[in-house]
Amino acid sequence: MKRSWIEISRSRIAANYAAVRDAVGPNVEIACVVKADAYRHGAAEISRILAAHGARWFAVSSAEEGIALRQAGIAARILVMADMLPSDPGALHEFQLTPAIHSLDQLRELEELAQPIAYHLKLDTGMARLGTRASAEEIAAAVTSCQHARLEGLMTHLASAADYSRPQSQEQIAAFDAVCDGLRRHGINPPFQHAAGTIAIAYGRREAWRNMVRPGHAIYGYISPARGNAPPSLLHVVPALRWLASILAVKDLPAGAKIGYGAMFKAPAPMRIGILAAGYADGIPHSLSARGHVIAGGEFAPILGAVSMDLTSIDLTAAPHLKPGDAVTLIGEEGDCRQDAQQMAREAGTISYSLLCSISARVHRVYVE
Ligand SMILES: *Cc1c(COP(=O)(O)O)cnc(C)c1O
Repeated sequence: MKRSWIEISRSRIAANYAAVRDAVGPNVEIACVVKADAYRHGAAEISRILAAHGARWFAVSSAEEGIALRQAGIAARILVMADMLPSDPGALHEFQLTPAIHSLDQLRELEELAQPIAYHLKLDTGMARLGTRASAEEIAAAVTSCQHARLEGLMTHLASAADYSRPQSQEQIAAFDAVCDGLRRHGINPPFQHAAGTIAIAYGRREAWRNMVRPGHAIYGYISPARGNAPPSLLHVVPALRWLASILAVKDLPAGAKIGYGAMFKAPAPMRIGILAAGYADGIPHSLSARGHVIAGGEFAPILGAVSMDLTSIDLTAAPHLKPGDAVTLIGEEGDCRQDAQQMAREAGTISYSLLCSISARVHRVYVE
């Protein structure tokens, strides 16, 4: 019996990719973001599924993640978005990785490798995270002085793509345009420009799409809600991951019984509880202690008391027939009840991205149709 496991639907991953493809049309390249082990959906298998459905580009955070994809047999292009150059100078070339270069110093380092490597240059257009803030003139001088490193793309990242109440995205796009236009005047016009993740795709910020987009969350079936006066989402995706846990023990408690660490919950009346074989070491946020719920026997079952490292207690009053060995749903659907990662994250005071990435390695992964 497994303690806790996730089931990932191959057909939903493929359908979500197809939805992005339909939304952006055939002339926009899609770099599927499979960093952080594909938001815990499993980078190797997700990339195989997407490649089988036509994906030609993947984006990861580190060279290590890129090398793991190569070792899993992925032949598509791989963009490494957030790393130093590998300490092994031959690694980029050997594994055919395409670095996102985020400063002109880093570009000089890449050139010093004296290898024929394509790179995408990241521009900081106002997020103040990765990317160069150099002027078009400085960038043009650095790019044209390279003999070996070849500029293939210009990219940036939006800080507030979902926020339609403030102009930050327009300001960032204008800054991106200014540098791209400045570079064009110096005869620099690389094949790709890209600025859009899931949110800018979903809410139709076409000025950010250019000719490549970088969806992650949407591939897994999520689109964050927008703020302000946003257009309706033009993308419809479905969560691909279900998360289940086994009941280890069931017990009947008298009124007044104290449950778990710190006695955070005291039974107001006689009640039946279940002890789940999953806790915060599996990725259930500790902040769900005495709040939030799972789905047990097709009914919502509140979490009782503190979430502990390996165990979580739930109220089985509404599902008294459940017994040890039965499974409950943390994320997914049962009967008329459903809970997705966004709903669970909201109750935990976090975001769906963080919740998904926190599902730990000891939670078994199963791929289903
Ligand atoms: C993670 C990431 C993405 C994907 O973002 P989603 O919101 O998951 O689509 C795109 N671009 C960059 C630079 C990222 O770091």
